[in-house]
Amino acid sequence: RELVVSFGEMLIDFVPTVAGVSLAEAPAFVKAPGGAPANVAIAVARLGGGAAFVGKLGDDEFGRMLANILRDNGVDAGGVVFDSGARTALAFVTLRADGEREFMFYRNPSADMLLTADELKVDVIKRAAVFHYGSISLIAEPCRTAHLHAMKVAKEAGALLSYDPNLREALWPSLDEARTKILSIWDQADIVKVSEVELEFLTGINSVEDDVAMKLWRPTFKLMLVTLGDQGCKYYTKDFRGTVPSYKVQQVDTTGAGDAFIGSLLRKIVQDPSALQDKTKLEGAIKFANACGAITATKKGAIPSLPKEDEVLRLMEKA
Ligand code: ATP
Repeated sequence: RELVVSFGEMLIDFVPTVAGVSLAEAPAFVKAPGGAPANVAIAVARLGGGAAFVGKLGDDEFGRMLANILRDNGVDAGGVVFDSGARTALAFVTLRADGEREFMFYRNPSADMLLTADELKVDVIKRAAVFHYGSISLIAEPCRTAHLHAMKVAKEAGALLSYDPNLREALWPSLDEARTKILSIWDQADIVKVSEVELEFLTGINSVEDDVAMKLWRPTFKLMLVTLGDQGCKYYTKDFRGTVPSYKVQQVDTTGAGDAFIGSLLRKIVQDPSALQDKTKLEGAIKFANACGAITATKKGAIPSLPKEDEVLRLMEKA
């Protein structure tokens, strides 16, 4: 049983055809399929692993296009359902010259938000070795209830639960609600991954020192990761912890780096779950995941940048 099942949103990012402009200045946009949970599923499949995606898309041209992208990338799309009354979510996204990201979401509501617990393909969820999710699916009902139910089904079927909150401040009614709801399912996870920004958001402390990270640690966790961009990541388990540096690359666009990182790490963990108890094996898996994140940061977009295994091994050998 090596299947990674990823739950949540899949959408189309529209990104400017030229770099470093605001959304208002952008002369034109291109489609960039994404949504962190979908990226994670594709990251796993790109490495040759079993992956499935569970979520809802609009029964429209874009929704069908996204389902085809999952299939074309080797992801089991049997957990995808379509909504005939709502559109596939869209987001206009840009990285301005000053380094700030601008987002504009079209979700009023979008199909992903309308997934109900009844519509969940539980047979797909029950096959998961790892069930992975974010927090965007927690924002609005009925998807929130579907999300909570899916976690329960996965847990009862013996899956490890993996949580990457993937904070998108603009999608929440308030930052307080974001923090409360993100933390409302914190204790149930087996594996959690946060970025430096999320660590600060959730703890209120601007530091990646171990004592700050440990505020997010729970005794039931098997693994907690704090990603540090080009610095690699810190990791924590019950028995050991450490920092694993990343690889030196020419950074172009970090979109999807976090998804490549967690997807590849989950792939390694389902292949050899004993890595969660073995420092050498775990650090080896994290090195691999860092390399996947690094490669993804060298190319534009998320899905096109997710690496195959040979590319990852080449970067690791070269270093
Ligand atoms: P995202 O940016 O996708 O929302 P995130 O903030 O978790 O997620 P990062 O910390 O940017 O993602 O990257 C995840 C991992 O990818 C890092 O821990 C690191 O291993 C690798 N990585 C990202 N950017 C670089 C880089 N410029 N050079 C080397 N490795 C990188």
